[in-house]
Amino acid sequence: MIIVMERNASAQLVDAVTDRLKQLGFDIHLSVGVERTIIGVIGEKRPEYVEQLAAMTGVESIVPILRPFKLAGREFHPEPTTVQVGDITIGGDEIVVMAGPCAVESEEQLLAAAKEIKAAGAQILRGGAFKPRTSPYSFQGLEEEGLRILVRAREETGLPIVTEVVNPRDIELVEKYADMLQVGARNMQNFTLLREIGQSQKPVLLKRGLAATVEEWLMAAEYIISGGNSNVVLCERGIRTYETGTRNTLDLSAVPAVKHYSHLPIIVDPSHGTGRWRYVKPMAKASIAAGADGLMIEVHCQPEEALSDGPQSLKPENFRQLMLEIKAVAEAVGRKSTAPMVV
Ligand code: PEP
Ligand code: MN
Repeated sequence: MIIVMERNASAQLVDAVTDRLKQLGFDIHLSVGVERTIIGVIGEKRPEYVEQLAAMTGVESIVPILRPFKLAGREFHPEPTTVQVGDITIGGDEIVVMAGPCAVESEEQLLAAAKEIKAAGAQILRGGAFKPRTSPYSFQGLEEEGLRILVRAREETGLPIVTEVVNPRDIELVEKYADMLQVGARNMQNFTLLREIGQSQKPVLLKRGLAATVEEWLMAAEYIISGGNSNVVLCERGIRTYETGTRNTLDLSAVPAVKHYSHLPIIVDPSHGTGRWRYVKPMAKASIAAGADGLMIEVHCQPEEALSDGPQSLKPENFRQLMLEIKAVAEAVGRKSTAPMVV
């Protein structure tokens, strides 16, 4: 339930309510606004407690929570959350673009892509060092060497890095190198991984599962937040439908739905969402128009030689064009983009 305090209720009145809640064994999440404090209450709700609490001075109303996601939901956290990755803010006015190859293949390959995406105005470098693949015979990633290469690219370009962690036992290792931890679509309901990541201080990029509803996705975020890490950014990356013309079906309606239900930032990955480089730019523009806080785009200098996801990877010149076009869309919907006007 949510306890809405009266406008300008004093700190003493708020303390009295929170003390009583603690005494009754509830967990509390306070949201202190300019005019009003809202208290999120987690725990078993008994009718007699609701009546007692409603009778306390300073309490305006008690609202039951209808949705199962409490910490990820907007109900007691109405203000949008921003997540910091190094100097970059996700969820603010500015659109944030994460770009880079699907997998780190070599230092030369990653550095070349990193320099290109930086010049085009991307703010975060992506690249997989641990690659969960559909086939066990496909390239599985360079693992720790891949992480070291990512760090070298960060040193060269100044771009913070986001990379996937697949296994709970690798979190400590990935944390040492990465600025943001990615949870992949195939792991969205790996509850052990989510709980462990909840203990991390690093921001998290939580991709939507291949067959997950928005509610299941927000419940996955709830695992991470309830573990103590509230720096979660959601990433829509397409879901499995009967359509075979694209690799996945990019569910852009998830963007306004997530914005409605949750305070967390959401970005879109049209690369995995479509599986084809030709469809990436139009869907990137549509994502920003739909209200996404940013994008994740796969970029490779030689997609024809890529070890993974070449068909959906943009060449640098196409990525530069994408950055220019999304800048125009961002401005049209009242957002900003740091992409240079001419590249
Ligand atoms: C990726 O971003 O490289 C990736 C594997 O994506 P997803 O988990 O969305 O398939
Ligand atoms: Mn990929």
